[in-house]
Amino acid sequence: MPPLLVVQNLRVYYYSLRGIVKAVDGVSIEVDRGETLALAGESGCGKSTLGFALLRLVPPPGRIVGGRILFDGTDLVTLPEDVLRREYRWKRISMIFQGAMNALNPVRTIGDQIAEAIMIHEKNVTKREALERAAELLKMVGIDPKRVKSYPHELSGGMKQRVVIAMALALNPDLVIADEPTTALDVVVQAQIMNLLKTLKKERNMAMIMISHDLALLAEIADKIAVMYAGKIVEYGPSDVVYENPMHPYTQLLLRSIPRLRGPKELVWIPGQPPDLRTPPPGCRFHPRCPFAMDVCRREEPPMIEIEPNRYVACWMYAKR
Ligand code: SF4
Repeated sequence: MPPLLVVQNLRVYYYSLRGIVKAVDGVSIEVDRGETLALAGESGCGKSTLGFALLRLVPPPGRIVGGRILFDGTDLVTLPEDVLRREYRWKRISMIFQGAMNALNPVRTIGDQIAEAIMIHEKNVTKREALERAAELLKMVGIDPKRVKSYPHELSGGMKQRVVIAMALALNPDLVIADEPTTALDVVVQAQIMNLLKTLKKERNMAMIMISHDLALLAEIADKIAVMYAGKIVEYGPSDVVYENPMHPYTQLLLRSIPRLRGPKELVWIPGQPPDLRTPPPGCRFHPRCPFAMDVCRREEPPMIEIEPNRYVACWMYAKR
């Protein structure tokens, strides 16, 4: 069976007065049914833009300028907007936006807000039926269904995030994109939310794209990891393999810059800053920060090298020349 999602050479640019920001620049990924792909990288590397692009919700002045997003065989890039809205967005692919729990409407009950999400897409559903489904969804995410009548301010941060997850799953999507779903939550609640997502994904056989800067957190939940740097994927492979044996110098530094239970205890920081995506460095975009940079790295962009089946690294160190 072909993968649920195949992204080929996707490019998303922002056209600002100060230049063209190449936020996603030739990204290719695949996600199978029921699989979790992690997108990791520092903030500003393009991972959230990639998430928005998959729903064709890139905010202006951004737009998709090239590539394909094949979802269950249909190219979402060229699909008419009304078909995308009716058949795909939220129904088959939904997204948990970063900070969405703080965007819940403060003057409406959470039941009403979940019910509305259902009724917008399912025209034949009555308000009463939608509220019943909202209560079921709350139960599914571990909240007492009686809470349908609660207002957001009556809930803790963790509960609000559970409501946001319930809304994203309301239409039983095949793929959920979760953008930093545990940001601003304390460590214990973070673990609870990650466990909830893991359980729901398994129960519903849904595919997920989990976006985060925290590679260790991602390795816990994901089947595959794609590491992004400056708009490009630099390493891609099974999550346990990438986590235990990172090959790209950026992945190695990224992993050493976060506390890990296993592995070296000493933390390092990644020298320098990510590049300005209006004027990225020539050759390998990581070369100004890379401790192993060679002449070729400053001149030519490294190809994506297949190290073994399903394991790729874009780095000249692994090229057979
Ligand atoms: Fe470093 Fe060169 Fe590899 Fe880029 S291609 S990560 S600069 S060694």
